[in-house]
Amino acid sequence: MRLVGAFASMAMMAACSGPPADTIVATSQSNEPATAASTALATPGQQSADAEPAPPAEEEAPSSNHVALKYLIGDIDPASDPMFAKIPEKYLGGSRSWGHKDAVDAFVRMAEDAAANGYVLKAVSAFRSFSDQKKIWEDKWNGKTLVGGKKLPVSTPDPKDRAIKILEFSSMPATSRHHWGTDFDINNLNNSYFNTRDGKRIYDWLTQHAPQYGFCQVYSAKGADRPTGYEEEKWHWSYMPVASWYLKQYPIDVGYERITGFDGATSAKDIDVIKNYVQGINPECK
Ligand SMILES: [Zn+2]
Repeated sequence: MRLVGAFASMAMMAACSGPPADTIVATSQSNEPATAASTALATPGQQSADAEPAPPAEEEAPSSNHVALKYLIGDIDPASDPMFAKIPEKYLGGSRSWGHKDAVDAFVRMAEDAAANGYVLKAVSAFRSFSDQKKIWEDKWNGKTLVGGKKLPVSTPDPKDRAIKILEFSSMPATSRHHWGTDFDINNLNNSYFNTRDGKRIYDWLTQHAPQYGFCQVYSAKGADRPTGYEEEKWHWSYMPVASWYLKQYPIDVGYERITGFDGATSAKDIDVIKNYVQGINPECK
């Protein structure tokens, strides 16, 4: 009779709380003498013990294969996040000094090797948070920062057209690769600099050597290979070992309901910024 009762309570446990196979075996072993019935009970327990490797595999998945949403949309403070590191002063050319630690390591290696060969590389921008990007975006949106010499609320009042104009060179908050800490703007934020003697020399060095350190020019010239997205940015280089993983994760975790909280956000879906801009990169960098 006790065994029947034990079976009944075990059935309830299984139904209410998942697979407590180990608990069942332990209970039956401690409460019952070694009868044929309790030996029979132990058999399913053995089977579940054999199947035990499954749970650790499930626990590993989030940390090794899945980046938390906050890292995709810049909702972090790099100064207190162990995933981030500071770019050394000697390789800094601006006030944004943080990056993903792996990307910073690779950037420093590249800058050291470049310096040894007579090329000066400095990061003029690196990690930017959602709120950093919101300020950049809204200053353009509201006319505080001129775009092409114009105040956009006056020259381009239509919201969708205005957003597309800003998107030539600036990302909407929550969609910037600078949120990831994997991307660096190097030396100058104008393509014209890279046509000067000094700038061309740097650009040629980067084109030839940056891939050896994991970096790729994501915003290459527009054309058949890259029909949509930001205009060419010869200064913007991305550390692919981390960034390509983030890019794969991005459309899974970030939907249009997350691209919100700033002026002009409603045009994000109309323009399909995820497909046309976040994913609109140099195919060699995917
Ligand atoms: Zn950039």
